[in-house]
Amino acid sequence: MKNAFRIVAVSTALLLSCASADSGSLLISEDREIQMGGEYNSQLLQEMPVYTGDVRVNDYVTQVGNALAVNSGRPTLPYHFTVVDSEEINAFAVMGGYVYVTTGLLRASASGAEVATIVAHELGHVSARHGVRAMETYLIEKGLTDLLFQGDQTRQLVQGALSTLSLLTFSKDQEREADSLGVQYAAATQWNPWGIIDFFTYLEDAGGGPSSGGVLSQIGELFSTHPANPERIANVTAELEGMGIAKDDPDYRKGLPSEDSGFAAMKAALGG
Ligand SMILES: [Zn+2]
Repeated sequence: MKNAFRIVAVSTALLLSCASADSGSLLISEDREIQMGGEYNSQLLQEMPVYTGDVRVNDYVTQVGNALAVNSGRPTLPYHFTVVDSEEINAFAVMGGYVYVTTGLLRASASGAEVATIVAHELGHVSARHGVRAMETYLIEKGLTDLLFQGDQTRQLVQGALSTLSLLTFSKDQEREADSLGVQYAAATQWNPWGIIDFFTYLEDAGGGPSSGGVLSQIGELFSTHPANPERIANVTAELEGMGIAKDDPDYRKGLPSEDSGFAAMKAALGG
């Protein structure tokens, strides 16, 4: 039963992401996307400190991320999972398989399933090529598409794109799609996908989180008000009920500190 569901969930995820990826990413090839992602990464890391404390923190996120990526719509991309040292509660992804979570988010998380479902949501954006589409729209609107074919203009293109940080924030429909893809990747990896509802409920109750005012707070992502948390919670709840996954479904891991030593070690390394 468990395995049968797993296969169904994986193929649904693949179908969904292929369906969304097929409709119009023509300008930017996958190789170019990976190259641009690398450039985004180096430019972003000039403005955001990478967490370099206890290696168990980075290891945990990378391990969780890689396992989910295998079950995502683009399992062969070279993924990079980075922990950003910031009390802001946030996570985001850029094209080419670069995914970031903050120490603030990890500290706020109560279970491995919460971390995994947030990372899975970000992988949903990568699989559906939301960042690529945003970049293509930007290049078309600015009349810059020729630059894609004139030698290596990657650095300049990414610099220009980063000056408009809205490129890192997605539309309401894209957020819904990433939520939907994310719960499927999480379920296919045997994480309890209700984790994302637990986390959104926590965010709703906490009324947001601390803001650094820096580049991270300009990247809306988790806190982008569209769709509002209650709407996302309702949408995902309906989807999980449709998938027949219960909150306490024994087939799916919650990853509570008492049962997930990796999560417990990560939390301990960050000071609980
Ligand atoms: Zn998102």
